[in-house]
Amino acid sequence: MIEQTLAIIKPDGVARNLIGEIIHRIETSGLKIQAMKMVQLSVKQAEGFYAVHRDKPFFPSLTSFMSEGPVVLMILSGENAIQKWRDLMGATDPAKAVPGTIRREFGQSIERNTTHGSDAPETAAFETAYFFGGMERL
Ligand code: GDP
Repeated sequence: MIEQTLAIIKPDGVARNLIGEIIHRIETSGLKIQAMKMVQLSVKQAEGFYAVHRDKPFFPSLTSFMSEGPVVLMILSGENAIQKWRDLMGATDPAKAVPGTIRREFGQSIERNTTHGSDAPETAAFETAYFFGGMERL
């Protein structure tokens, strides 16, 4: 099934000049970058994006991290794009991620794990609409 998913290169990835490396991995995987922009999120914007985690103990730290510097936001599309991008990223905790995955190779901690990817069709719909307008999501 052709899907869309939201990918983010988080502030730790942008700060360490990993944009090209990560985009190279996306493109060689066969996924298409359908829309892309670089922005610095406000704390409020990060809080809105991660609202499902608002009751978690790491919420203040996570939203502060996500707004500390620019991020790259992308809509990726392709066959099974949601799972495919999560497989390229690896597990949330870089220490537990499969060798060769982005988070295993570049993640610094369970929080500073370099990339984000939607985890289901419903979250992909919410997350792509959170950051991109209708024209970019066609
Ligand atoms: P994901 O779907 O793999 O990104 O994982 P989650 O939805 O569970 O968590 C969202 C983000 O919150 C993760 O990508 C991490 O940046 C951060 N995070 C998750 N678990 C923890 C944790 O236990 N401690 C801290 N500090 N951050 C976490």
